[in-house]
Amino acid sequence: MTVRHLRPILIAAFLLLAVPFSLDAEKYYCRFCGNSATSVSSLTSSNCSRHPHGAYKGRHQPFEGEISGKYLCRYCGNSASSISSLTSPKCARHPDGDYKGYHSPFKGGIADRYTCRYCGNRSSSISSLTSSKCSRHPDGDYKGRHLPME
Ligand SMILES: [Zn+2]
Ligand SMILES: [Zn+2]
Ligand SMILES: [Zn+2]
Repeated sequence: MTVRHLRPILIAAFLLLAVPFSLDAEKYYCRFCGNSATSVSSLTSSNCSRHPHGAYKGRHQPFEGEISGKYLCRYCGNSASSISSLTSPKCARHPDGDYKGYHSPFKGGIADRYTCRYCGNRSSSISSLTSSKCSRHPDGDYKGRHLPME
């Protein structure tokens, strides 16, 4: 085989390797349900089955945190490998009331310290931080749980 014949094969091999990476980088996930799309405009063109206002009461909204293999709920610290599996069950520590809404992915990423945005309390995990009520909660003293800063 001559070099002239080999070149198109090399280009094809390069494209095959490059395409999955570029598709991956351009994916946007809904923070309520984990639905994915290749652009924000196509993601937000339809309504979301897990919208906090009620099923299909609002549009998908892009998750602004880091896309990784592990997502933590910002209300309770539950973890899952995808946004869609994290947000499918209801959250025992939801701010609207126990099990009144779905888990919500934390945007801040995995850290060794989490700080409450209202009072500055610190904890090594979201689940321990959100297990107690916050003395400076915006709804009133001890009217809600600590919430990690993102
Ligand atoms: Zn959605
Ligand atoms: Zn939760
Ligand atoms: Zn607090």
